[in-house]
Amino acid sequence: MLSVGLTGGIGSGKSTVSELFASYGALVIDADRIAREVVEFGTPGLAAVVAEFGDDVLRADGTLDRPKLGAIVFGDRARLQALNAIVHPLVGRRSAELEAQAGPDDVVIHDVPLLAENGLAPLYDVVVVVDAAPQTQLDRLVRLRGMDTDEARSRMAAQATREQRLAVADLVIDNDGPLDALEPQVRKVWEQLRERGADVSRRSRR
Ligand code: ATP
Repeated sequence: MLSVGLTGGIGSGKSTVSELFASYGALVIDADRIAREVVEFGTPGLAAVVAEFGDDVLRADGTLDRPKLGAIVFGDRARLQALNAIVHPLVGRRSAELEAQAGPDDVVIHDVPLLAENGLAPLYDVVVVVDAAPQTQLDRLVRLRGMDTDEARSRMAAQATREQRLAVADLVIDNDGPLDALEPQVRKVWEQLRERGADVSRRSRR
């Protein structure tokens, strides 16, 4: 089994790439989705968040008010660290459980938006970065997602820089061009990952 970390800045095309990997047969583990699941209504994760941040972060129906929690931690390092200290171990544990279901020849793709920001590269056999110029990211967020320009800029500024992300990459997928230039690159990277996966599983069988 080969464990791959996939990352990229907001609007870089990470989800598009992970869908392609899934269509080739990868087991995709979506860290953002798991991060939502571990604080769903009735979970110990949500109880821990409430113990830290108070009832104010709950809606009337008892579910987490994500925008409110987001507003509390955005730009406040200590509060963000407190939240991460609750959520990250839960996400790590759930991801490991899902990864354990993979077969020896599988390639597991962990879609982790904040891989570079959180220093997670050492967790994976290979790190793949989806790269696009900041202007391209901004353009996609505003034009395709309907995000306000200032909002898009501030979200991008809160993430790692393009250079910081590339510094942790073993393989880079260039998604600055049109969509039809993306697919052949993802397929090529997929073939490289399959080869490495076969090497890893041969080693583990010896
Ligand atoms: P986020 O971090 O916000 O989840 P993401 O990195 O997962 O973003 P996607 O959702 O895959 O990015 O892509 C952002 C938008 O840009 C989507 O609407 C997607 O269809 C579009 N897109 C992705 N790649 C390209 C491309 N090469 N050309 C044009 N549009 C693209």
